[in-house]
Amino acid sequence: LIYLDHQATTPVDPIVLDAMLPFFSGDFGNASSHHLAGRRAALAVDDARDSVGALIDGRPSGVVFTSGATEANNLVLQGAAGYEVGRPNVVVCRTEHLSVLDTVAAMAKSGTELTLVDVDTDGRINLDDLRAKVTTRTALVSVMLANNEIGTVAPVAEIADIAHASGALFHCDATQGVGRLPISVRASEIDFLTLSAHKLYGPKGVGAVHVSRRGQAVIEPIIHGGGHERGLRSGTLNVPGVVGLGRACEVAGSVLGVEEPELERLAGRLHAGVMGVGDVILNGPISDRLPGNRSYCFGGVDGEDLLLRMPQLAASTGSACSSASPAPSHVLLAIGRSYDEALSALRFGVGRFTTEQEIDRAVILVTDAVRAARSESLPARN
Ligand code: PLP
Repeated sequence: LIYLDHQATTPVDPIVLDAMLPFFSGDFGNASSHHLAGRRAALAVDDARDSVGALIDGRPSGVVFTSGATEANNLVLQGAAGYEVGRPNVVVCRTEHLSVLDTVAAMAKSGTELTLVDVDTDGRINLDDLRAKVTTRTALVSVMLANNEIGTVAPVAEIADIAHASGALFHCDATQGVGRLPISVRASEIDFLTLSAHKLYGPKGVGAVHVSRRGQAVIEPIIHGGGHERGLRSGTLNVPGVVGLGRACEVAGSVLGVEEPELERLAGRLHAGVMGVGDVILNGPISDRLPGNRSYCFGGVDGEDLLLRMPQLAASTGSACSSASPAPSHVLLAIGRSYDEALSALRFGVGRFTTEQEIDRAVILVTDAVRAARSESLPARN
């Protein structure tokens, strides 16, 4: 299998797995227990907290571990949006991940006033629209660092300034960007940054939110219980997962700046090959995008059909295939693609272990699949 779906998930790096293994059986203690086994687990969790904090230039004490980015986004949005009477409004970008959009849509049913901000044809947030929509009635502004479908990177420091100018707090879902792009919660003044281990070669089912001092003063838990994670997220910590997240952050920090040029070299090679098939549009900007990510609309074909024609290649369509009839991606519609164009999309994500041979093979598979699909659909088009 040629795995080019690193925006969906990444394999656990062997270095990360090695760090996790002792905490399943040998050092299996509950990090909240006061005996030696518990203290050993707690020390490992503390180390992981330091590593997560270091990668995003944050305070270790600001890191709250969760079951992933979906939970972290829910915690921030539900736990911080209602912090002040007179600020019923939450402003989010149209192209956010569904773990943000569906959460705010649910909150809107119980009184939150939801405002969506537009993007341009490359998926870049319209800062004038944002400035116009953030007011002194806004509690929270939520904009992702890098888009998971089309790789557009947001100017987070500018967005934070706009939010803060009206007294609102800024949440950045940095799930796709952390480990691939440099990010500093301090320099960009991000009040809440959310991330997930399985997008940076760590395990699934563990993530974190970094909460600024200002954020800490207002956020309330959404999961109640034993008061773990300084009362913000109750529940026994997933110690092997947390250790894996910490190690994944250390590895990501050590290759940051080195790995991305190689990801981009391989993605550029893929791009040159894929464009050769003709009638292809790149989704998202040509440059300054999430390293390794490319998304395309292939004229006259269906993305699901293309994937079925290439079982040896793991890529992703631009559709939410949760039902029998796939719905076109809200991101592709937001950047102005038609319904049919959006259903013709494929997303590729190059990763740490991808080889040049795999890219060349993928180009042949995609080219053959598109040509075959187009030639079969010709009679129907005439
Ligand atoms: N936010 C973004 C931008 C993502 O790409 C994802 C992953 O699909 C999530 C949130 C959800 O992360 P998790 O799988 O850890 O819940």
